[in-house]
Amino acid sequence: MNKKKSNAAAQARYRERHPARVRAAKQKYNREHREEIAAWKRQYRKDHAEEMKAYRKRHYRETREACLRRGREWRDKNPQYHQKHTKRWHSNNKSWSHKYYEDHKEDFARRQEEYRRQHPERVKAVARDGQRKRRANKIRLFEDFTIGHESFVREFWANRCAICHLEQSGSRRKLAIDHWLPLSKGYALSIENAVLLCERCNAKKGGKWPWEVFDVRIVRGIEHLLEMQEMMYGANETKRAISN
Ligand SMILES: [Zn+2]
Repeated sequence: MNKKKSNAAAQARYRERHPARVRAAKQKYNREHREEIAAWKRQYRKDHAEEMKAYRKRHYRETREACLRRGREWRDKNPQYHQKHTKRWHSNNKSWSHKYYEDHKEDFARRQEEYRRQHPERVKAVARDGQRKRRANKIRLFEDFTIGHESFVREFWANRCAICHLEQSGSRRKLAIDHWLPLSKGYALSIENAVLLCERCNAKKGGKWPWEVFDVRIVRGIEHLLEMQEMMYGANETKRAISN
């Protein structure tokens, strides 16, 4: 055994026997050579930029795949929770998910087409079911939104247009209650979907998604207010039920 080798072995034994001492010595060294170490690190990063970039890329790819795989496994094991969670997430992020849909319309259409081709029977069944549901919804739509709802909504928006804040005055300027998310896309008139709009803003909006027409900040603001409207309406109902 040559000298170098036996020295290394002795060092290894020492490290093994006195881990605390080794750690303290390391910390002391790091403290005393902070500037030097930082400079060395900077130099290292500069000299190995490409290598480190490749490493980060690989690491990202590998951990990303592992994360996605774990996610998939969990999802397969907990289908109900996942469905509920997704639904809630989308209803809390309506403008995001609709924008995503609008941006990926073609992908969705392609996947849908593929599905239709593979499962013609299922598609027919869903269509029948959808027709029934739409009919039921239409009836419910007019039954559910009462005069009580209407006056609550008018008061909530302080008799002003939700978009341009035009105030109702006399009979000339008429503000009307309208769907925030359009009926033409399947959204019923309900306390969480009812806004007060002037004729101009109403006409501008038509049957389009709000974010296709109005500024994103306005859309977010109104979605927030709609949540409040729903909450306050619920609280009001509870209060009334208690006092009656
Ligand atoms: Zn308006």
